[in-house]
Amino acid sequence: MNKQAKIYIAGHQGMVGSAIVRQLQAAGFSNLVVRTRAELNLVDQAAVDAFMQQERPAFVFLAAARVGGILANNSYPADFIYQNLMIQTNLVHSALQAGVERLLFLGSSCIYPKFAPQPMTEDALLTGLLEPTNEPYAIAKIAGIKLCEAYHRQHGVRYFSAMPTNLYGPNDNFDLQSSHVLPALLRKFHEAKINGIGKVEVWGSGRPRREFLHVDDAAAACLHLMQLSDAELDAAFFQPEGTSLVNVGCGEDVAIGELTELIGAVVGFAGEIVYDADKPDGTPRKLLDVSKLRSLGWEPSIGLREGVEATYRWYLEQFG
Ligand code: GDP
Repeated sequence: MNKQAKIYIAGHQGMVGSAIVRQLQAAGFSNLVVRTRAELNLVDQAAVDAFMQQERPAFVFLAAARVGGILANNSYPADFIYQNLMIQTNLVHSALQAGVERLLFLGSSCIYPKFAPQPMTEDALLTGLLEPTNEPYAIAKIAGIKLCEAYHRQHGVRYFSAMPTNLYGPNDNFDLQSSHVLPALLRKFHEAKINGIGKVEVWGSGRPRREFLHVDDAAAACLHLMQLSDAELDAAFFQPEGTSLVNVGCGEDVAIGELTELIGAVVGFAGEIVYDADKPDGTPRKLLDVSKLRSLGWEPSIGLREGVEATYRWYLEQFG
């Protein structure tokens, strides 16, 4: 990927896409292509085709998706499966037609079976039943992985997939109904603190364990992967007996209860924490095995406390 290469970032207004844009710009890549949702509807195949034919990028980061936390996934299952299937199918197919050389498809660790052995290796894919609360989203993402694999097998293009763990950071969704746990708790603790409310409600039992990675680390990993040599990519993603995906995480998880304590401390909330057992816990644990990513030469650099502090500073600048 030379510095003048034309690179399209799908989903550049989202948390992951915007972090990829920041990383690309910081690394001196100057020929970036983006479209807002109003300019290009990714669910519309004809519009996506016309756009790809017009721009003909060499590289695509596919970070556009309908995403959300446990409640949003549970409430809008049709939107999650339909929009994600459409977005990825349209983009991958149009990319092939437009001569895109490399495409990195971003998924999520929820593609793995609910009871996959922990930490989860890439070959756990399709070995068991999924967590029901986000099955429609996960099925769409699994289809996306298989889409890239099939396009590689039939057409030889280097389209491959990265599965990030739970990400957080700037441009995250802080809406309490649709957000993930980390931004939700940052906001709840912050609002309780400034409004003098002595109690914060946390969903579920606090016992599920989750792995968290700062989105700047995830974006750095994506750039690293996209810049591997053809030989490195082929060895890692395109072997008949191998898998076409790689986990992107830090390899460590925390209980939701521990995360709650950490965020409370960072925000400076001194009140009471109440666990709401009527809300779902979701999958008990989803820790990624990150040895494949490590073997490809990448490690995270932002610790959880440091990342939460930075995200809280960003939140205060935006909403404080
Ligand atoms: P998941 O990783 O797909 O389950 O998605 P979430 O990030 O939404 O939830 C992770 C865990 O945090 C689940 O066990 C939730 O019940 C729990 N949790 C606790 N409080 C909250 C909250 O305020 N919002 C969300 N989204 N999850 C919460």
